[in-house]
Amino acid sequence: MIRTGDEYIESIRDGREVHINGEKVKDVPTHPMFKPIVDIRARIYDMQSESPFESLLTYEENGEKYATSLKPPKTQNDWWQKRKITNTVFAEIGGVVTRIGDETVGEMWSLFDGQDILNQVDPQFSENIKRHIDLVTCNDPFHVSANTDPKGDRSKHPKDQDPDMLLHVIKETDTGLIVRGAKFETAAAYANQAFTKPTIANWGNEAYSDYAVGFICDLASPGIKMICRTGFAGESPAEDYPLGNKFDEVDSLVIFDNVLVPWENVLFYRHTKAAMFIRATLHRYSAFAFVQRNLAFTDLMIGAALFNARQTGLDKQPAVQEKLAHMAVYREGINAHLTAAIALAEPSPGGLLMPNQSLLYTGRVHACSNYHQIMHIARELCGGQICITPDHACFQDEESGPWMDKFYTINESWCAEDRRKLLAFARDLLNSDYAGHRLTFQLFAQSPPFAHLGAVYRNFGWDGPLDLVKNAAELSDQVVQDSKLRKWLDCEPDLSEEDE
Ligand SMILES: Cc1cc2nc3c(=O)[nH]c(=O)nc-3n(C[C@H](O)[C@H](O)[C@H](O)COP(=O)(O)OP(=O)(O)OC[C@H]3O[C@@H](n4cnc5c(N)ncnc54)[C@H](O)[C@@H]3O)c2cc1C
Repeated sequence: MIRTGDEYIESIRDGREVHINGEKVKDVPTHPMFKPIVDIRARIYDMQSESPFESLLTYEENGEKYATSLKPPKTQNDWWQKRKITNTVFAEIGGVVTRIGDETVGEMWSLFDGQDILNQVDPQFSENIKRHIDLVTCNDPFHVSANTDPKGDRSKHPKDQDPDMLLHVIKETDTGLIVRGAKFETAAAYANQAFTKPTIANWGNEAYSDYAVGFICDLASPGIKMICRTGFAGESPAEDYPLGNKFDEVDSLVIFDNVLVPWENVLFYRHTKAAMFIRATLHRYSAFAFVQRNLAFTDLMIGAALFNARQTGLDKQPAVQEKLAHMAVYREGINAHLTAAIALAEPSPGGLLMPNQSLLYTGRVHACSNYHQIMHIARELCGGQICITPDHACFQDEESGPWMDKFYTINESWCAEDRRKLLAFARDLLNSDYAGHRLTFQLFAQSPPFAHLGAVYRNFGWDGPLDLVKNAAELSDQVVQDSKLRKWLDCEPDLSEEDE
């Protein structure tokens, strides 16, 4: 059950309402701001049926072919394969994309793990949960994540302000729930469905709430309006901004204007306990693919900085080598966390194999909290020329072109055109609007930094250091028991604070 690129493109020609730049989009796949990223997603679908990628990107079961990246992980080999697929896809498309479905699908595996608990909280939706988990594997959809509401004034209870600031149910009907509100979602305008769930952290003592609703949202549902931020593609020449023109993953404010969610798509409703459970376990798989993106972006930064240093002969300077080494240390720190998270993977409550949770979440903090520093080292190593170099048109122009050739030709290996291309690439990677957007994406798109640290706090094995000190300081057993008990009391209220 794998799709082709054409099938994917046709699947998003479904009458959806998309706005960008004050314009209502007539056809998403051919609109200049969406076409490049839609084509990339389509290319990844096509890779699934092409040699030499097919055997890695797909697997067979009962005579049917399925996408390996959507396969619930059960063995370490499944994880090595997922990691290899990401690298293979990035190599083939010549860059890095984040939201292509393989990253967000992990949320469905968390749901798989939670089936029993959700069933205990409220059994009426357990069939829906099972069916949707299977549908993701069987139908090869482009699946994204919807958590973050506009939220409004956080000092007020949702009911004391415009209630739509958080997505909520306004009515139950025979056919389903009517919901109102909005969510921020990367890639929604060109995806098929979104696992939509609450972001609210503080449920107080409420056992039931109209805001505690989780469902699979068909992004073509009537009443959904997607208002996108301006795209980078087509805004400036591709020769000058090669990344933004090709890899921009447009984000949307997805508005739910009285949208009917059929009962068969509802995964939980009203029980705040179910919502808290989902939030607490949401990233246990999907953080892996997210952190792997940091690694890929770091390789782009190292490559750009090193090419520049070699081009100009600066790599001979020990101080420059030291800066490159700092980049390598950061990169290998991410690599080590990802590798160890697979090597020390742990069984999940549902019988799947999770990356080692403590190593994954500490890896996410390492990757996200140091990313800006590494970006700045790369910016420094590429030098000021990345932001003062004239554009491609000046290199082509009859009058200015020869001057560009003269001052941008470095030696017999590095002609002016290659120097221009490297500087344009580095500018788009490090200095452009697109670069700033990517930096913010890695900071926020899988929850803000405080929630990353919250996940570490909940998953690190504190008992090891406690036992060591207990023995070293010859403390009584009572102290340790008390401290371990306190940990759980401290943790519980935080369980709902995972955000995305
Ligand atoms: C490029 C990009 C893509 C995104 N894509 C998606 C997506 O696909 N799906 C999705 O659901 N969301 C997405 N998001 C939204 C993202 O998850 C949120 O931006 C993020 O969760 C932070 O929420 P906020 O922007 O409302 O910030 P706020 O909640 O306003 O927080 C701002 C800052 O306030 C501080 N703060 C707030 N609350 C606390 C607290 N309780 N404790 C300590 N400090 C606090 C922190 O410093 C925090 O960073 C995306 C965001 C970006 C920037």
